[in-house]
Amino acid sequence: MANKDYYEILGVSKTASEDELKKAYRKLAKKYHPDANPDNKKEAEAKFKEVNEAYEVLSNPEKRKMYDQFGTADPSQGFGGAGGPFGGRNGYYSYSSSGGFDGFGDFGDLGDIFSSFFGGGFGGRSSKNNNGPRQGADLRYNLDITFEESFLGTQKEINLTRYETCSTCHGEGAKPGTKKQTCTVCHGTGQIKQTQTTIFGQMQTVRPCTNCNGTGEVIPEPCPECRGKGRVRKQVKVTVKIPAGIDENQTIVLRGEGEPGEKGGPKGDLYITIHVKRHSIFTRKGQDVLCEVPITFTQATLGADLQIPMVDGSKETYRIPDGTQPGTKFTIRGKGFKNINNGSQGNFVFTVLVQVPKKLTKEQRDLMMELAKTMNEQPPVKKKGFFGI
Ligand SMILES: [Zn+2]
Ligand SMILES: [Zn+2]
Repeated sequence: MANKDYYEILGVSKTASEDELKKAYRKLAKKYHPDANPDNKKEAEAKFKEVNEAYEVLSNPEKRKMYDQFGTADPSQGFGGAGGPFGGRNGYYSYSSSGGFDGFGDFGDLGDIFSSFFGGGFGGRSSKNNNGPRQGADLRYNLDITFEESFLGTQKEINLTRYETCSTCHGEGAKPGTKKQTCTVCHGTGQIKQTQTTIFGQMQTVRPCTNCNGTGEVIPEPCPECRGKGRVRKQVKVTVKIPAGIDENQTIVLRGEGEPGEKGGPKGDLYITIHVKRHSIFTRKGQDVLCEVPITFTQATLGADLQIPMVDGSKETYRIPDGTQPGTKFTIRGKGFKNINNGSQGNFVFTVLVQVPKKLTKEQRDLMMELAKTMNEQPPVKKKGFFGI
């Protein structure tokens, strides 16, 4: 899947609100609905899927943020392909690229459009289908890292508490050796239909079965470990690789590290948002590292070889010319942050701060006076007013 412009596909601006997105999506989904295009069904279907894919990403604030950030929704893209250092199942910033029919999105009242196209089987989190497979909940985690770690990349182990499939009953909820049974009240549908006669005629209402809580199954002998829930809360350690160049507020997605799905549904994902601690001397601007370097006024006047500290702990020698003015910026190319998408490197930019000595020895003072004379300066006078009046 090549990088697609989802905004273009939906015909909205990059700043489109959720409402605008929804509107655009509804319009296009209707327009390209295969049933509405009997003459060129194939083409319409392709368009329809494209529109769905775009909406799936842009309607999810987290995915939209990542799409804006990395320009792709495809895990095989951003990091040098599947074989690259960041490929594989738990690659960075990966999210479902299967086209959006896995119940990932929150389609709310748009369900009608889908149910007519997909025969009502739009499973996942759709509220219409309580008995189908359900994807596990996504989890969120805020991770603090140091400036150096964001620069060099790192690997972290995080502790979190999440539901895990119960190992005693393998998520079945039934005591080992026993089995779940189909609910005899609703016959496995999870729903009770009632027909009432009203003044408007026959009305049918549907409510969840109370005997099985709408699941369609009952557990005569619950698993002692999870008390029939099929899942238990556990503390787990998750390892996350953080690529060099990651910036404040960027998010890493670990697919399948969320909570377990239900009824065979896939696991949720873990969204890790990175927070970079402030550094005492370095700051970041885009891909560049910024820093202020104090120099003496003799260094500024005569020029000097400066030892500039780099973020990775090394030092770079940099020659500043004679007559360097306070506030001058110097650039060391290629010593900035790595771009996590294309590997290109920013620069190291330092600004010189010229320090005026506060105390001089008698000898230094005499030398300065000599210097001042040669520069035809007024000799210093006793301080009277601001302008010496
Ligand atoms: Zn169990
Ligand atoms: Zn039931």
